[in-house]
Amino acid sequence: RAKYPHQPVFLQAVEEMALAIEPLFHDTVNGDFYKRAFLYMTEPERMISFHVPWTDDEGNLKVNRGWRVEFSRYVDVVFYLRQYTTVFIMDSRPLIFGELHFLYIVHWDLTKADYGLPLGGGKGGSDFDPKGKSDSEIRRFCESFMTQLCRYIDASTDVPAGDIGVGGREIGFMYGQYKRLANKHGTGVLTGKSFLFGGIHLRPEATGYGAVYMAQHAIEDKLKESLEGKRCAVSGSGNVAQYASQMLMTLGAKVVSVSDSNGVLVFEDGMSLDDWNAVIDAKQVKRARLSSLGNNISGKYIAGQSPWTLPDLKFDFAFPCATQNEIDKDGASLLLEKGVMGVFEGANLPTSAEGQQVLRSNPRVLYIPGKAANAGGVGTSGLEMSQNASRTQWKKEKVDAMLKEMMADIYKQMVDAAGKEGTLEEGCNRAGFLKVAHALKELGWVY
Ligand code: NDP
Repeated sequence: RAKYPHQPVFLQAVEEMALAIEPLFHDTVNGDFYKRAFLYMTEPERMISFHVPWTDDEGNLKVNRGWRVEFSRYVDVVFYLRQYTTVFIMDSRPLIFGELHFLYIVHWDLTKADYGLPLGGGKGGSDFDPKGKSDSEIRRFCESFMTQLCRYIDASTDVPAGDIGVGGREIGFMYGQYKRLANKHGTGVLTGKSFLFGGIHLRPEATGYGAVYMAQHAIEDKLKESLEGKRCAVSGSGNVAQYASQMLMTLGAKVVSVSDSNGVLVFEDGMSLDDWNAVIDAKQVKRARLSSLGNNISGKYIAGQSPWTLPDLKFDFAFPCATQNEIDKDGASLLLEKGVMGVFEGANLPTSAEGQQVLRSNPRVLYIPGKAANAGGVGTSGLEMSQNASRTQWKKEKVDAMLKEMMADIYKQMVDAAGKEGTLEEGCNRAGFLKVAHALKELGWVY
């Protein structure tokens, strides 16, 4: 806390982890080692900051900032790129670093257990606000961003993937610029690429699908139930929310909501395929707000609310897939009042520290943090790297089978690490920590 007083989100992520692994610190054999490993892991190896000059459509010079934070060389770094929907001013820079730190902490590494490729050791982003920008402005920004970033990334150094505000369009522009500059075959250097130039099938879908696959395991294993006919609230309408909703519908669940930062669309009888297509058209093609859908959709739009603030919206399972801290203490209490049976986090740290305390107060609720529930995205980025390294293109069915297997493995690791007494949340945090800690010991980096 003394070192990072201006990084509340980072401190929140570290605290969440510390709470879950605290019993390990009392281990008579390894307790002190675990404390040292924890301290080691929470300090990045290096942080890079650079300027990103670009020209707007009126010909004006704009200057944004870009960052990269690398935490650990232990992992073959896949880092997320974020463009912020809010433009941070100079003195809130530590807050942005804080967010990047937090993204690392929430991802340390539960993915890829069986594929031998630990991933997730770095994060990156910028303070560019993509909202309201034209395609040309986005392209010019992405090209300038990559002009700087290309000095620090490589297929065997750091491999970025998308996150909030960075989807296929942005990855395409950045990759295009990388190819211009690098003068080498560079398919492995970014993940989430188009299928036309080395992308893997299902990467856009992987995070949302993976979260639903994970929920399926937990619901079948712990509740002896299925998703069929269950009412599921989804927040967000971006990449993760879109494909979580699609997979939920495929499995026969009723999706009762999606949202954006302005409001929520409620589908009392469940979202239809036509509704889903209208949301995809609005978000992926027209880049419009949910409020613009009007009568083209069966849902009712409620401005200024989220699925977690509506007392009358009934559902069985919650899939927060928008952003951090979207479920606060009141939101979590409302979930318990409604008898919600499970919370599966597609987003990173969508439940605030107080909200988590509320969820923990009722162990009946299956609570799987994003670290595990959204690991399908980074895991599939790892598959994309493997595919690129082998200069092949895998079939969709193969990738889907690998994604399913990955989520099943992660679920098993979580249950094993939780032991008889622990919750899935504790298991999730412990499994990731233990794996990294033991690797650091064997590498001779923490002793
Ligand atoms: P997108 O940018 O595609 O979508 C983000 C969605 O969240 C949008 O609907 C956005 O609404 C909404 N949102 C953003 N900020 C807020 C806010 N303050 N309040 C309410 N809604 C908000 O991002 P992704 O879908 O890729 O990412 C969503 C979450 O999933 C993030 O936490 C991300 O870190 C996490 N994640 C993403 C992965 C991926 O593969 N993409 C992998 C693992 C985790 P609006 O359109 O109004 O901005």
